[in-house]
Amino acid sequence: MALPRALITGIAGQDGSYLAELLLGKGYDVVGIVRGSPLAHYENLAAIRDDVTLVQGDLLDQMTLLDTISRHEPDELYNLAATSFVPASWRQPVMTAQFTAVGVTFMLEAVRIVNPELRIYQASTSEIFGATTEAPQTESTPFVPHTPYGVAKLYGHLMVATYRERYGMHASSGILYNHESPRRPAEFVTRKVTRTAAAIKLGLADELRLGDLDATRDWSFAGDVVEAMWLMLQQDEGDDYVVCSGVSRPVRELVDTAFAAAGVDPEPYVVVDEDFVRPPDPVPLVGNPAKARERLGWQPRVSFEQMIGMMVETDLRELSEAAGQDAARA
Ligand code: NDP
Ligand code: GDP
Repeated sequence: MALPRALITGIAGQDGSYLAELLLGKGYDVVGIVRGSPLAHYENLAAIRDDVTLVQGDLLDQMTLLDTISRHEPDELYNLAATSFVPASWRQPVMTAQFTAVGVTFMLEAVRIVNPELRIYQASTSEIFGATTEAPQTESTPFVPHTPYGVAKLYGHLMVATYRERYGMHASSGILYNHESPRRPAEFVTRKVTRTAAAIKLGLADELRLGDLDATRDWSFAGDVVEAMWLMLQQDEGDDYVVCSGVSRPVRELVDTAFAAAGVDPEPYVVVDEDFVRPPDPVPLVGNPAKARERLGWQPRVSFEQMIGMMVETDLRELSEAAGQDAARA
């Protein structure tokens, strides 16, 4: 019997690389879309580079998706590609709308035209709740996005539901809360904190400039949430699911956990910098993962402390190696 085949947009990102590893482990044939050359080095894919097929393409070039779906005939499509950093969406609101909103319609149309039986996962986000008044949030909490990123993601979320209803497609949206790992880019607060805690430990930095220490988020491990994505596509029908830890933690707790993992007292090093302060959320962004737990049987395996510990360990190793190389060159 032929191996099941998955197509992943954004495969070289944090989630795409963990998902590719999970699917390869389950015996899938994995095809991924990257923006750059398929021959370029993709750090997150280093361990599986020879096991996946990379195709070059941009989400906004509809021909890439049409062609890739026709040629590779995937059974499942995971649409993860997007500009994922919220402040960047204020700097490039039009581009965010093009990629993150209209890009989803391109994808849905490509599937409808080439193979409407193809099962789809859309990377939705807790940012679609934005300034909502309910906490914790569920799949039926009112959507009140308040950033260009959140508004664009809500358009994609609603189009997936619309195509599911109109054409009977097996299309699911995962309303994912913040999830992190050693593959998280450095502008996100978790990685910024773990990286700087490690740098301070090694004598390579002497302060950590942050925004609001009382801002809260519901953080999970990226390696855990990709399993929920896969589980959604194994159900009889597509649906929407909130995927999160269900625990709200302040940035202050993140700082304490990371510095404890690095063995440093944070107190003398943390500086509040207005440049990083954002308008406060009216209610905490924290989810209720009951539906995912009950219907998908999904639950997180890695705790917050383990995840932050893993990130600090990686940052200590990478920064030590880089410092060693610099010393050798000097
Ligand atoms: P990353 O930023 O790590 O990865 C996104 C990937 O998408 C990158 O490889 C990027 O490529 C690619 N990409 C961006 N724009 C395009 C485009 N126009 N065409 C083709 N590829 C493109 O994000 P994550 O892995 O963390 O997130 C995956 C998805 O989940 C995103 O859609 C994100 O918005 C969503 N999400 C993430 C959450 C999180 O906490 N991580 C929470 C909720 C939702 P390049 O490297 O070339 O820029
Ligand atoms: P987001 O939830 O997708 O925007 O992920 P981030 O990691 O960028 O931000 C998570 C939370 O940390 C938000 O409430 C930010 O306001 C808060 N935060 C506090 N200080 C910082 C900082 O210095 N950088 C970032 N990125 N976020 C910060």
